[in-house]
Amino acid sequence: MHQLRDHLAQVRRDATTDALTNLGNRKAFDTELRRAHEAAERSGEVLALAVVDIDHFKRFNDTWGHQTGDQVLRYVASVLARVGAPPRFAARYGGEEFALIFPGETAESVHTLLSDTLKEIASRALRRRSTNEELGAITVSAGVAELKNRETAHTLLERADAALYASKHAGRNRVTNAETHAGVAAA
Ligand code: C2E
Repeated sequence: MHQLRDHLAQVRRDATTDALTNLGNRKAFDTELRRAHEAAERSGEVLALAVVDIDHFKRFNDTWGHQTGDQVLRYVASVLARVGAPPRFAARYGGEEFALIFPGETAESVHTLLSDTLKEIASRALRRRSTNEELGAITVSAGVAELKNRETAHTLLERADAALYASKHAGRNRVTNAETHAGVAAA
């Protein structure tokens, strides 16, 4: 009985975990966002959402190969897992895109936090394991939005995504706050 229960728990974990990065997957993210959105609506507490995307990831994969690309994904994920530890939630949303949920936090405070996270990510000199070559700095762009009164989770996510694209267009390696449209470059 215990074994069956453990097995079922494992199956459930596998279905909601991204195997490469060990973060939650998109399905887990959608569930968590729905839950956090409902809780914020009920309690009236603030809720912020961030979307993070690795800069020039395709170029990176083409230059260094998929195995090294996977290592870069794992590196960024390891930093985001720390930043997104409970009660926050971090997930690999798809490809080279990650999403984080910040219950009880404002877009302004998350903006400040992520500016530091971007600097941390870019500060480490990763090496290609097979040849020991320096890969150069890994940079990411981010967008953050805060739940508005009566806003749906879907629209909140769309606004965070639009802020991410504003960061990309403004030159990457920065975080944009959808509420103020203030972009802060990490470097
Ligand atoms: P991983 O290769 O599975 O490494 C997991 C953790 O083991 C790392 O977490 C780090 O704490 C430790 N570790 C592994 N190899 C080394 C090493 O050569 N030196 C030191 N000092 N510690 C090591 P961390 O740092 O959070 O990295 C997470 C993942 O990011 C790694 O998973 C790997 O996939 C990727 N990564 C990080 N740095 C590099 C790098 O310089 N080159 C490559 N190719 N990948 C890296």
